[in-house]
Amino acid sequence: MRRVRLNTMIGCSKCGEALNLDLDLEDARFAGMLAQGFLCRECRLAEPEFKRAVAYGSYDNEMRGLIHLLKFARVRGVARLLGRRMAEAVLLLEGEAAAELMVIAVPLFKQRERQRGYNQSVLLADEALRCLQQLRPSWRLTAAHEAMERRKSTESSFVLSRKGRRRNLRGAFHVTGDVRGREVLLIDDILTSGATARECARVLMRAGATKVWVATLARAQKKFVMRQHEDPGELVARWDLRAPEPG
Ligand SMILES: [Zn+2]
Repeated sequence: MRRVRLNTMIGCSKCGEALNLDLDLEDARFAGMLAQGFLCRECRLAEPEFKRAVAYGSYDNEMRGLIHLLKFARVRGVARLLGRRMAEAVLLLEGEAAAELMVIAVPLFKQRERQRGYNQSVLLADEALRCLQQLRPSWRLTAAHEAMERRKSTESSFVLSRKGRRRNLRGAFHVTGDVRGREVLLIDDILTSGATARECARVLMRAGATKVWVATLARAQKKFVMRQHEDPGELVARWDLRAPEPG
């Protein structure tokens, strides 16, 4: 039997999760995957309601450093550089997403936004829109960040299983604007488990959006996966979200 090892260059066509495939060319599953695009296990088990999530790059040291400056060291100026990268991520949707999009940054819990002084995703989205106005003047992208609210603080959920993360996020987001009949572009800094994007897409679709697209700066790839004892069917993943090593 011929075996093909496809390296991590291949990502899930829905959420961008790196796929480690070790499959037979003759494998029926492989043929199916080729036909429908490569989907990660999670997206096969429960398909997200967003159409596709794109990212500028991976969560490497440089990107991690820049995002940490913006989020934790409150170096606001970094939003300019990162916003340009966000614009490049959005361009990956060209030809797929409509040229008229309602752009919504993933909202922060109010208290958190007050502490930080801003929502970094709003800065990134606005900067990206400024760039895209020049790069694609025919597009009509409108910022509508106030169309969604976060009513629950769910920041420390990254060690939960994916199912746990999703449960934890239930009821966190509320659509407060009119998204009926609109295609929405959701902007966030990092895509980790995808649970936030999933939940936002779910509430947006429920509120009448026609499609939801997701653009982030970086896709954090899983550091390792372990099985949870209580529920053997459930995988617990950890993502590498550490601050960059000094030096
Ligand atoms: Zn996926």
